[in-house]
Amino acid sequence: MIQPSATLGLLGGGQLGRYFVQAALSMGYGVWVLDPDPDSPAGRIATRHLCQGFDDPAALEALAGECAVITTEFENIPRASIDWLEARVRLCPGSRALAIAQDRLAEKDFLGEIGIAVAPWQALRAGAATPVTPSGGATPAFPAILKTARMGYDGKGQVRLARAEDLAAAHTELGSVDCVLEQQVELEREVSVIVARGAAGHVEAFPLAENSHCDGILHLSRVPARVDAAVRERATAIARMIVERLEYQGVLAVEFFLTVAGELLVNEIAPRPHNSGHYSLDACTVSQFQQQVRAVCDLTLAPALLTTPVAMVNLLGDLWPDGACPDWSPVLEAGRARLHLYGKAVARRGRKMGHVNVLGLPGEGDATAVASSAEGLWQALADAAARPSAEAEA
Ligand code: ATP
Ligand code: MG
Repeated sequence: MIQPSATLGLLGGGQLGRYFVQAALSMGYGVWVLDPDPDSPAGRIATRHLCQGFDDPAALEALAGECAVITTEFENIPRASIDWLEARVRLCPGSRALAIAQDRLAEKDFLGEIGIAVAPWQALRAGAATPVTPSGGATPAFPAILKTARMGYDGKGQVRLARAEDLAAAHTELGSVDCVLEQQVELEREVSVIVARGAAGHVEAFPLAENSHCDGILHLSRVPARVDAAVRERATAIARMIVERLEYQGVLAVEFFLTVAGELLVNEIAPRPHNSGHYSLDACTVSQFQQQVRAVCDLTLAPALLTTPVAMVNLLGDLWPDGACPDWSPVLEAGRARLHLYGKAVARRGRKMGHVNVLGLPGEGDATAVASSAEGLWQALADAAARPSAEAEA
């Protein structure tokens, strides 16, 4: 068991890392963060911010020398750095899980090997013209989505294709790198499960979140999700199986598609806490970040139970009128709303700047009321951002 006041290492300095740092600091640990951004949300509050690239030898050496364990909030760490660290210091999750989650092709292969259903897909290799269907897989129909195998997030690195004839141009547009061609499935709902696995193999899953996206970016998560008990149990069992088969230590997220035909398909996995688990900061018996600290430090995992219905709405840079900070009064005046801002200095369109959790009351059955009040708060901020400023009008 790694006890306070040991130092924990974190690869990546975004908002997911910032909450990990907060959770660890509150328990008396120190946290060293590696991230090249001088203004990174986690780096700003870390015990020490190593403001270097993820391949910087001196920074990796410093981390390995100081930290009792190293974890990640960002999966796109160079493989050489991961291997170098893993040979010297405890890395949770380990290189195998990170390698799989870094690469959509490896991820689909892994899911196929353990018998988990995904949307029909094909591999389109760098420079190749013809996609290849995996053995035993179904050939995707159109419309389809071409996704780069590596480095995609928030819908980036994806092109939607109406017809097979569009494939060559789309592959060129994505730089002819390794890609996955995936059938666009008809969605009934999207759901996700955050799951933690500790050193002794104990697993705790958080309640299922129901997610809606705008332009490929998560907009709103509501919990409990509107799915029947069988879907909930199956999704949770799949998440559990994934961490068990990966012999995973840490927190992992699984995104699912529930199709109109009633199939539950895995969309993707993330080897870290997840935006759709932010509701746990205010509405669970433990947050996904406290659970990450517990999992990587070999502490007993906490039960992850919902305390009230909750809806989380993301605050993107689009809500910052001309880059200026919004007037938060609609959120601050709502007693059930919890405002979270990540301390990012620059607001850009599509950039995640913060989120709001709207809480229900214990015993309230579903998330209908909290989801509509979260949408209402978001709409008030969006309307304010769209209004021409007094200065511009004058
Ligand atoms: P993030 O890392 O932010 O989750 P991403 O860039 O990895 O996003 P995906 O999860 O692959 O992107 O896709 C983003 C969203 O686009 C999905 O949540 C879903 O709404 C839609 N989408 C992606 N693939 C499909 C598909 N095969 N069929 C239908 N919708 C899809
Ligand atoms: Mg996704």
